[in-house]
Amino acid sequence: MPTGKSAAAVTPRRIAVLSVHTSPLAQPGTGDAGGMNVYIWQTSLELAKRGIEVEIFTRATASADQPIVEAAPGIRVRNIVAGPFEGLDKTDLPAQLCAFAAGVQRAEAREEPGYFDLIHSHYWLSGQVGWLARDRWGVPLVHTAHTLAAVKNNALAIGDTAEPQARIIGEQQVSDEADRLIVNTEVEAGQLAAIHDVPQSRIDVVYPGADLNTYTPGDGTAARRELGIADDEIVLTFVGRIQPHKAPDLLLRAAAPLIHAHPERRIRVLVVGGPSGTGLERPDALIALARELGIEDSVTFGPPRPPAGLAEVYRASDVVVVPSYSESFGLVAVEAQACGTPVVAARVGGLPVAVADGVSGRLVDGHEPGSWTAVLDELTADPALRHRLSDGAAAHARQFSWARTADGLLESYAKAIDARRAATQTVRRRRRRAGVRV
Ligand code: UDP
Repeated sequence: MPTGKSAAAVTPRRIAVLSVHTSPLAQPGTGDAGGMNVYIWQTSLELAKRGIEVEIFTRATASADQPIVEAAPGIRVRNIVAGPFEGLDKTDLPAQLCAFAAGVQRAEAREEPGYFDLIHSHYWLSGQVGWLARDRWGVPLVHTAHTLAAVKNNALAIGDTAEPQARIIGEQQVSDEADRLIVNTEVEAGQLAAIHDVPQSRIDVVYPGADLNTYTPGDGTAARRELGIADDEIVLTFVGRIQPHKAPDLLLRAAAPLIHAHPERRIRVLVVGGPSGTGLERPDALIALARELGIEDSVTFGPPRPPAGLAEVYRASDVVVVPSYSESFGLVAVEAQACGTPVVAARVGGLPVAVADGVSGRLVDGHEPGSWTAVLDELTADPALRHRLSDGAAAHARQFSWARTADGLLESYAKAIDARRAATQTVRRRRRRAGVRV
């Protein structure tokens, strides 16, 4: 049973976290691994610090995956066999949900009764499994969608593929079924309420965070050396999965006229991340674009890196550019700012929360390269402006910590547990009044 005396203090003792399509142990920044992996891992660490046992269920993707991995004190990753280890795309996974759900049920059935106090599912595929497990185990389901297909489809990049209707229907079902829904920002709460008809009273806004011990301001000289970037170059950086809706091509298109018009500024574009999704899936496409724009000598590509190496990349950058067409929050923006690097971001989704316009960076309307060139022109021409925004960036980022995110999750969990307890007591009272033995 959950511990805690008052409703507000109800804390689960052990939770099941569902992450069907990607493991929190995977390297983010390529394939299906991105912000959600970081979110799940970092919040699990924070919850475990507070004595909550976290068991993360994910699909096994290699024969070497052990069924249970003790990933960190208090955090267990359960690799569930559901379909072939390799060769399945995220779009193939709806057909494996039954196998995955069965694996989750069997794992729980091997433990003592009442093993989990709560389920937290991430992304709609996990929500489908969570809703079944919730009914079987009689514990609340808290769900985080991370992105909504309907929102993404409303802002598709050229070359991007629309999310299928099946996902929109799946997100509607999970929205109907979950005890509580966690979203990243107030804007997302409004979208969830409007698109899936969820009452605001069932939605909790919890801002994601950044690892403020790893992402700290510092000297980027070593990283510049390693990447072959000269000390006097002005570095404009894209970090993330190379996919159309992240629009790394827009950075190249916006920077090209400046690189040609102002060779004295020594502008370099740095792209760090790996392939994912459709369209721009191969950095080859970006290499070809750089060539077409005549800036291939001013563009550097780097593979995805773990956090310590990524912090170096942020520190080596003068500006980090996040030109996404849609972005539920944008962890990269917060991490970069935590390293004291200003961010130029699209005014979409959660980015206006992640970036304080004019204080920690700049927000740009639309995806017309000219508007982005104008903002990057201002920033590359004015070191004092970059310096001021750098100070603002570090200060702005300090409000986003994973500890605060965990506080928000625990509040949501407490509400979910409390509501379920109250509902169970009401049913018991009704049965007692009706003379049914309880
Ligand atoms: N990331 C990483 N190494 C890389 C590139 C990205 O660890 O080389 C991580 C980055 O630190 C961030 C996440 O991937 O936490 C991307 O999250 P974001 O919210 O920016 O985008 P998403 O992938 O969720 O669309």
